Amino acid sequence: MSDKYEKVAVLGVNFTKITNRELLEQLKTDSLNHSNRFVITANPEIVLYARDNPEYLAIIKSADYTTADGIGIIKGANILKTPLPERVTGFDTLCSLLEFADKEQKSVYFLGAKPETIKKTIAKVRHEYPALKIAGYHDGYFKDAQEVTAEIKVSNPDFVFVALGFPKQEFFIAQYRQLTASIWMGVGGSFDVLAGTVKRAPLFWQKHHIEWLYRLFQEPSRFWRMLALPKYLIMVYLEKFGLLKN
Ligand code: UDP
Repeated sequence: MSDKYEKVAVLGVNFTKITNRELLEQLKTDSLNHSNRFVITANPEIVLYARDNPEYLAIIKSADYTTADGIGIIKGANILKTPLPERVTGFDTLCSLLEFADKEQKSVYFLGAKPETIKKTIAKVRHEYPALKIAGYHDGYFKDAQEVTAEIKVSNPDFVFVALGFPKQEFFIAQYRQLTASIWMGVGGSFDVLAGTVKRAPLFWQKHHIEWLYRLFQEPSRFWRMLALPKYLIMVYLEKFGLLKN
């Protein structure tokens, strides 16, 4: 992880103390320098998963920037009295970087989501960011990674956005990031939002920190996954009072 920024540990995962604006400026510089970078935007579910999976935790440690994606991380850091400045979500970072790529005519590889979703995502990107160079794209349901990675290597993009959901996307990036001097970032369900298959919560819900509730209404099947949140908060309190066994 980059030494330039302070780190804040939440249940064993180190988060980069960084704002949206700082991360964006940093990634622009990294991109202009052709530095190889790995960005993880982590939420409470990811933190809990990392606690049970040492291999995944090692991958998070190998990332250059790990940001607080989700109000749960901000709350957790506050409870532990080591606050983080703000939420830095995968979707917002993706949109800012697409804007940058459009302005600077940078190239982007898009990997992930269902075949019809990735097609819609690409159409949307072509329309909204016409000067951005599309290095290539592939849906996230490939059998053999070789075909995809060969394409990424040959096209040598400035940015590689991987929407395979966690933990798949981080395992993929950790395995292949050395193929190109790109900025690699896992973006979860962001292509579904870009394509319009899933709606992002309106600003009201985002501002009142209930984006997760909006998401639950849209995708009720996420209910079981969301039980991670209360479990996570209980563990943060246990950590605060020194009662958490490692
Ligand atoms: N996905 C994929 N390949 C897979 C599994 C999932 O491309 O083998 C895609 C899926 O279509 C969706 C995204 O990964 O677009 C996962 O979205 P989700 O909102 O679940 O992301 P998470 O919250 O796990 O980061």
